[in-house]
Amino acid sequence: MTDFCTLSLGDALDALYTRRMTAEQATQACLDRIAATEPVVDALLHVDAEKALAHARALDAQGPDTSKPLWGIPVTVKDALSTEGMPTTAGSRILEGFTPIYDAFVVERLKEAGAVILGKNNLDEFAMGSGTENSAYKASRNPWDPQCVPGGSSGGSAASVAACQCFASLGSDTGGSIRQPAALCGCVGLKPTYGRVSRYGLIAYGSSLDQVGPLARSVEDCARVLSVIAGYDERDTTCAPAPLDDYVDAARTGRRAASLDGVHLGLPREFYGDGLAPEVREACNKAIEAARAAGADIVDVSLPHTHAAIATYYIIAMAEASSNLARFDGVRYGRRAEDVENLEELYFRSRSEGFGQEVKRRIMLGTYVLSSGYYDAYYRKAAQVRRLIRDEYHAALGQCDALFCPVSPVTAWKIGHKNDDPLQMYLMDAYTLSLNLAGLPGLSLPVGLGAESGLPVGMQLMGLPFSEAALLRTGAALEAVLPAIGTPAGL
Ligand code: GLN
Repeated sequence: MTDFCTLSLGDALDALYTRRMTAEQATQACLDRIAATEPVVDALLHVDAEKALAHARALDAQGPDTSKPLWGIPVTVKDALSTEGMPTTAGSRILEGFTPIYDAFVVERLKEAGAVILGKNNLDEFAMGSGTENSAYKASRNPWDPQCVPGGSSGGSAASVAACQCFASLGSDTGGSIRQPAALCGCVGLKPTYGRVSRYGLIAYGSSLDQVGPLARSVEDCARVLSVIAGYDERDTTCAPAPLDDYVDAARTGRRAASLDGVHLGLPREFYGDGLAPEVREACNKAIEAARAAGADIVDVSLPHTHAAIATYYIIAMAEASSNLARFDGVRYGRRAEDVENLEELYFRSRSEGFGQEVKRRIMLGTYVLSSGYYDAYYRKAAQVRRLIRDEYHAALGQCDALFCPVSPVTAWKIGHKNDDPLQMYLMDAYTLSLNLAGLPGLSLPVGLGAESGLPVGMQLMGLPFSEAALLRTGAALEAVLPAIGTPAGL
């Protein structure tokens, strides 16, 4: 089975459950694939082949267990998630050499479900960025064109999935970091409702925005992973005790129906204005036509404060980041400056040497907007606009079942082309970050290839809180009626 790694997660599970493949063979196949593709994509910061194989052998010794929904399935996780006994850096020098003593909730859940964790994916430092170029260790590359970024900040996760190094990966999404890299790498990514998935063990960036979610090669594969990681956890006080749905069944139902009869899709007109690259607009329009042909009722809706979303998001995210990152002081974890004279110098030098430029910029801006005298003008104002944005989303979603819109204004750009201009980079998030401000779920899926670049274009479905099952059903139906984009050539 040479092409094992390119199977869907569901087909791989079938092969594992029926012993056509052992967990060890599956793990070895993915490790071989990593060895072959990693020189091109640089998606991983750490691979633990020995640990993964040992885990797979232990699974084989017990035999296939169909009560475990990911039995023997090789996966990777973003290096912002704590993994016991496996280095965790958040893409930062300040956590170089740090090995956690506990697993994040979602990592525990993956293990309980029988998944084999191969390694940790590269990311923008502390998940701050849109191209994975802000990693302190290396830039990851897009499997569709290695000269281009894979998106960010979960760019390593998306590149791993698109290069078939694993069957799924976990990312985190504060302002688009699951949906945008999924779109740029031609895979599927789901940002769950705020509170649907526990953040315990996720290295915090913007705590009121962060959410962990899956990236995979199909809607159903995402649903399989969501069903494993979703649910209440008392160790995250913002984790909701909301009832769970059968996500896999929802995705399957959608795929089987391959119809959008009776589904009202809202197009927020502010997402289709200037700034959308012509090839992205064209691919989106085709997808909208395909949805209409499959029975969807297309409705025009408005999110009037979209223009304020970038400013609002960056004030809130930076404020929260400046406070969250105060814990990295050189004393408790990771890197510590050497030859210091006193405690103040220890803090100062550890942080100066440990944090990268973008992280420092955000800590400074975040501290500024929270300082007395500026708090009312910036932070409080942003919190008020956030409320308006949230209310507008709820109003728009009162007129349709889901919003349907682009994920990124452009397809993947060349590495190095935007990274020296932070404002340019922030503009890349225009279509994703308001969803986090509103706390709602969003599913990003590939809809085509850009006519000019030949690179993947993604669109997202956004819904009311805890409507993941409906989004997966609609997403799987769309996936069934849209032409498949294929796989990256040459990998
Ligand atoms: N690009 C956005 C930022 O830099 C979002 C990143 C994310 O979702 N983690 O903040």
